[in-house]
Amino acid sequence: VTSDRTELLPAVREFLSAPKQLLIGGEWVDAADGKTFATVNPATEEVLVEVAQASAADADRAVQAARAAFESPSPWSRFTPRERSHLLWRIGDLIDEHLEEFAQLESLDNGKSLDSARGDAGVAAELFRYFAGWATKMEGTTIPMSVPGREFHAYTRREAIGVVAGIVPWNFPLTMAAFKIVPAITAGNTVILKPAEQTPLTALRLGQLLLDAGLPAGVVNVLPGFGDAGAALVDHAGVDKVAFTGSTEVGKKIAAGASKNLKKVSLELGGKAPNIIFADADLDAAIAGAALAGFFNEGQCCVNGSRLYVQREVFDQVVEGVAKAARAITVGDGFDASTTMGPLVSQEQHEKVIGYVRGAVADGATLAAGSADPAADKGFFFAPTLITGVTEDMAIQTDEIFGPVVTAIPFDTEDEVVAAANNTVYGLAAGVWSRDLGTAHRVGSKLRAGTVWLNTWHADDVTLPRGGFKQSGWGRELGSFGLDDYTELKTVIAELR
Ligand code: NAD
Repeated sequence: VTSDRTELLPAVREFLSAPKQLLIGGEWVDAADGKTFATVNPATEEVLVEVAQASAADADRAVQAARAAFESPSPWSRFTPRERSHLLWRIGDLIDEHLEEFAQLESLDNGKSLDSARGDAGVAAELFRYFAGWATKMEGTTIPMSVPGREFHAYTRREAIGVVAGIVPWNFPLTMAAFKIVPAITAGNTVILKPAEQTPLTALRLGQLLLDAGLPAGVVNVLPGFGDAGAALVDHAGVDKVAFTGSTEVGKKIAAGASKNLKKVSLELGGKAPNIIFADADLDAAIAGAALAGFFNEGQCCVNGSRLYVQREVFDQVVEGVAKAARAITVGDGFDASTTMGPLVSQEQHEKVIGYVRGAVADGATLAAGSADPAADKGFFFAPTLITGVTEDMAIQTDEIFGPVVTAIPFDTEDEVVAAANNTVYGLAAGVWSRDLGTAHRVGSKLRAGTVWLNTWHADDVTLPRGGFKQSGWGRELGSFGLDDYTELKTVIAELR
């Protein structure tokens, strides 16, 4: 315990002082079967609070509430685009007003440092304000028709899809919740949000804030629970669309489940991003970028730059630099001001990451930084780890690990590294470092990934679409493209008689 530990805000103490309930139809309610589960602080392994655990019966109640809130003449169905816009902006500002509270809850529940959590809450607030602009700009087109001897007026409209189930993971709990809720309600849909079982708290706090801001009851419902609650929403005939962020494995189950009723599906799934450093790169920037790519958010990022490829003549220099950057990271409790990396989110994740690193060492790989052991006796801490002596067939190289673990492999030619980089089922993100503009853009265009960073990593904005090639997903989130997945396009044909 250090002296510069941040104190809990009174509002956070109060939030954690009573068991949390489900938000259904604007009311806080217990689970139908009365079940609860504990959410744990990964830095201390202590229970933060008990949370109502939704089951299929609760999913059904939430679908009824979301349906009623959607169908005309509900209050929400009568909101004008401008009213939606103003409300979205107000919510963004309210998140900013409560930013520290959200940051503390997120840090306690997920483990990330308070600074990181503040950044996440800021992104959520900005997302509401960015989409506030789109609510009034969902325009259609008029389209000429050619039918001899008859006259027509044909046009398109963008309309809400209906009830959206948003199912999200634990790595950015508040921002992921916002990613699902914001475009959905911008377009006039209603939402049932299923936060991850590891990190339900900020989604629940957001639910209250939405009500306080004046969002009508039932427009956003929050159902903490496990995979069975998510599956119940996917199966439910009253859900029109499923928007999922999580693992590729669960994404496949969701696509299969949703196909029964052919509901719309968007999927943001796993990744195994290649980060390619050419010898002509600004090596100081590339080394710092590679460490950020691999270790930001405890490496628990879908776009984590986990496969580092370095041109042979600078391989040793880059490995040494990234190892040094890894050792400079302070692993600790997110509430300590000196902490730059918190614990992993859960015991399960901790064991999984350790298992992969031990497996790599057993396969003959070398640790250039970090360790195959836990970084503390208590709490799910793990030191940032850089691994060399890796071959393309090792599990550490093929599987998404979702921890602060980077492998480094040398390469000689551009063709060779492009082939290696694309040799994965994933296609979420990739990066290239080179001072030669031709090399950077040419290699970037050959990488099969939804996001390509050139001479940077994790640079991002709510204005930019994101999503996956290959098994990293279906559809795109955010930016102007982000609304497409939350609207139906209607063609209206009128005969002018
Ligand atoms: P996960 O797939 O295990 O769980 C995600 C969510 O799905 C949780 O809310 C969980 O309760 C729910 N779920 C589990 N089984 C379900 C089922 N059968 N039906 C419906 N819902 C179910 O993923 P995770 O371990 O929480 O998160 C890590 C994964 O998320 C990583 O693979 C990562 O790459 C991915 N991710 C992707 C992005 C992206 O934008 N592409 C962003 C963040 C995380």
